[in-house]
Amino acid sequence: MTHHRNRSRLLLSRRDVLTAFGIAGAAWLMEQAFVPRRAVAESVEPSCLILPQQTEGPYFVDERLHRSDIRSDPSTGQVTRGIPLRLTIRTMGISATGCRPLAGAVVDIWQCDAMGFYSDVRDPWFDTIGKKFLRGYQMTDARGEARFLTIYPGWYPGRTVHIHVKIRTAPIGRRSFDFTSQLYFDDALTDQVFSHPPYVSRGDRTTRNRQDWIFRQGGDRLMLDPTPTENGYAATFTFGLRLA
Ligand code: FE
Repeated sequence: MTHHRNRSRLLLSRRDVLTAFGIAGAAWLMEQAFVPRRAVAESVEPSCLILPQQTEGPYFVDERLHRSDIRSDPSTGQVTRGIPLRLTIRTMGISATGCRPLAGAVVDIWQCDAMGFYSDVRDPWFDTIGKKFLRGYQMTDARGEARFLTIYPGWYPGRTVHIHVKIRTAPIGRRSFDFTSQLYFDDALTDQVFSHPPYVSRGDRTTRNRQDWIFRQGGDRLMLDPTPTENGYAATFTFGLRLA
């Protein structure tokens, strides 16, 4: 699975290169075909891809809640139930001089709990105003990484399983950046996770990846590839930000 996905990202980036450089790109690719595999992987840095932005949706709340473990509600200390997910968001800054880790970016993530509820919102179906579970931000370190401990998200009607991400920077040059997107999971993995408590009590979900109109706008390039850990999953996802 991992290998397949890495390969497809590599192919995507080659296609991007082809689009950008046309005939010259084709010549470049021909050349690459004769370079050992490892060298190709290094020359087409998959983590420097510009990935699709997606809607922030109705549930972003700018809590300015600085924390790595976002599972608890700060007002009560109550920890959200669910399968642990260690999520690392890596940010790379892309400019004319190259692509390198972007330190000091503010990365927010927010998501629903195993029952499909977001904290700190009022909806026709629920009211969680004042709660702040499953929200938080981290600053990226020198490697461009922001690390979170969360849970595998549940689902709510009309959407497939997802985690929201927002990456913001202080002004770099003349502008600051606000990149917002969503991350997705393989449906087969979600089926497996949802067969366990507490998810199983929520019943069958209504929407899978392909039925979600937001997913269909580039979601296949925003797939997490979680690996099992001793008590849950871990996943890393890299966003390239075009700075100049
Ligand atoms: Fe959402």
